[in-house]
Amino acid sequence: MTRKMVGLAAFMVAAAWACSGLMPEPVGDPRSARMVTGPSGDPGCDAATLVSTGGAFPKNPNILAIRWTGYSNFELAFNGKVILLDTYFDRGSLFPALGFKAADVKRADVILLGHGHVDHMSDAASVGAQTGALVVGAPVTTEKLLTQKIDPKQVRTVTGKGGELLQFPGFTVEPILGRHGEPPKDVTEAFQNALKPFAKGATPEQAKERAEIRSRGTNDPRVIAEGTIAFLITLDNGFRIFYRDSGGVVTDYERAAMARIGRVDVGLIAVSAAFLHSLTSQRAVEHIRVYRPDVYIPSHHDAENDGLWRATEPLFRAVKETNPSLITVSRGYREPVCFDTENSVQRRERH
Ligand SMILES: [Zn+2]
Repeated sequence: MTRKMVGLAAFMVAAAWACSGLMPEPVGDPRSARMVTGPSGDPGCDAATLVSTGGAFPKNPNILAIRWTGYSNFELAFNGKVILLDTYFDRGSLFPALGFKAADVKRADVILLGHGHVDHMSDAASVGAQTGALVVGAPVTTEKLLTQKIDPKQVRTVTGKGGELLQFPGFTVEPILGRHGEPPKDVTEAFQNALKPFAKGATPEQAKERAEIRSRGTNDPRVIAEGTIAFLITLDNGFRIFYRDSGGVVTDYERAAMARIGRVDVGLIAVSAAFLHSLTSQRAVEHIRVYRPDVYIPSHHDAENDGLWRATEPLFRAVKETNPSLITVSRGYREPVCFDTENSVQRRERH
């Protein structure tokens, strides 16, 4: 092909793209939203940089940017406020890189710890100290946190049993006692044993690194029934986010809270660790039946490089069969999803 022909071919491809922009997109084409709107032009909603590590807020104060950063970590950024949900960032070299380190996280207004296992709180002390944010957790969580380097004045203990509404400028946080996942041992052990021959295994340095990280979380059995807190975050304009960082059964406390408020806009819900799709989907359906979110964003589905990742697609099918209008979202690390918080369940119900 001559250089001229290459140029012509490139022009024809470009022309085809331009034309396709004018054609109606087939219904259900997952690319249609992006092709119609393109990048938003707002780094707060386009860039894979956390606001807490120096990235931009969405320009419009009503826009909420949510970024998942592995396991059950999320960053919520809106109107000059940053909420961090869990803090498990420096996971070690056995895990895929998140693209930032705990030491990079310099800005947060509050840190909510769902529970005290290492994969939820290992960087809470250092990130709390760097940001000066209030760190909130159950008694068994804050007990562990207070053995580490953080100002006790920054630590708030909650039980999730009611009467603990936390007020911040621009939003409130209601802690609600949840329950940690209790996946059936016979199933999880079978999966883990099946994977063993394929795992690379840790070098002595990696084993040391892992032990140091694990020392910053707790294995206290109280985590299951007294130490797992769900958080209902309500922005001042009524937009509600429900966060739960472990895939356990729904508790009476959660049912009572949801009976009072009805529904939420976004559910950030950990996937159960039962590994069998039938079991994890069953639990996810239970969660969406109670929290009734407009949008479901799963979490706790990634794992070590050789570990067992928990798939989101079978869950999505199961939860959509329960609520066909449910919107499901699964993003890569730090990839933002933005919400116009003026559009919310509460606003729609009022009008
Ligand atoms: Zn856990």
